[in-house]
Amino acid sequence: MSLDNILNELFPVITESNKPFYDALGEGRLTANKCNECAHTFLPPANHCPNCLSDQVDWTALSGEGTVYSWVEYHRAYHVAFKDKIPYVVAIVQLKEGPRMISNIINYDSDFLKVGMPIQAVFTSGLGDVPIVQFKPIIGKEG
Ligand SMILES: [Zn+2]
Repeated sequence: MSLDNILNELFPVITESNKPFYDALGEGRLTANKCNECAHTFLPPANHCPNCLSDQVDWTALSGEGTVYSWVEYHRAYHVAFKDKIPYVVAIVQLKEGPRMISNIINYDSDFLKVGMPIQAVFTSGLGDVPIVQFKPIIGKEG
């Protein structure tokens, strides 16, 4: 199996529910679902609101700003696709508008990476055909 095939297996399956999310990423925009009944904003994309179970769900644009909720720096590749990436950071990102998502922190200094650090979305083509969002520290906004 080629590395490209391995990488493609790591990416999410595009469905009718999540296609608008990935289409927006490909255009450099971060979006989430927003419930028209209770205004809950959430990820991952879903056809029903996880807060009130309404099916009156729409899309809303997010700022791409957030903070580091939690993070870990990997120094060992647990999958061959990541052997050239180590060390790398996987983080839970607290988005400004409320949802949390798992992503990577890039362009970081591990001596200064900390919970609560302000971060900003960066859009890339990823390792395969699916666009991805990663985050980088916002320099000068540390509280
Ligand atoms: Zn709701």
